[in-house]
Amino acid sequence: MVGKYPVITLCGSTRFKSSFYEAQKRLTLQGNIVISVGLFGHAGDEEVWEGMDEDTVTETKTMLDDMHKRKIDMADGIYVINVGGYIGSSTRSEIAYAAAHSKTIDYLEQPAAQRCPVCGRYYFTEPHSYEICPVCGWEDDPSQKRYPDMEGGANAESLNEARRKYEAKYGTE
Ligand SMILES: [Zn+2]
Repeated sequence: MVGKYPVITLCGSTRFKSSFYEAQKRLTLQGNIVISVGLFGHAGDEEVWEGMDEDTVTETKTMLDDMHKRKIDMADGIYVINVGGYIGSSTRSEIAYAAAHSKTIDYLEQPAAQRCPVCGRYYFTEPHSYEICPVCGWEDDPSQKRYPDMEGGANAESLNEARRKYEAKYGTE
């Protein structure tokens, strides 16, 4: 049997080792080729940092981040392991990278109230976070979400205006 299997790269903090394994298994059984991280530097593989001087640790972490972007290049989409909504800074940059390269973006957890109200392709890490969406640049301002025509909050333009601009540029999800 030769099939065409979508390729999905897992993204997220390596502290969520068991969730990575669970997602890898589930997505594989669903017919995807799954690319994962090479090591769990925050959960069980700490020995890789032992005996490394600070510069080598920094270089190695930079290499691993860069490798993960290449793994995203190889994939049709990413699957974000956002346990408890947590998304760290390198995962945020991977989401931005995936969006910029027209990859699909899926999430383990999809809390409806934390979905970006402009692009719908990001879940803020907590409600009322004032976090900036790495996909579309909208800042999570709860007042502007409640009053979608309100300008001059955390975002200069209103939510409705930002939505109109996003839809005009990328179409609706
Ligand atoms: Zn967004």
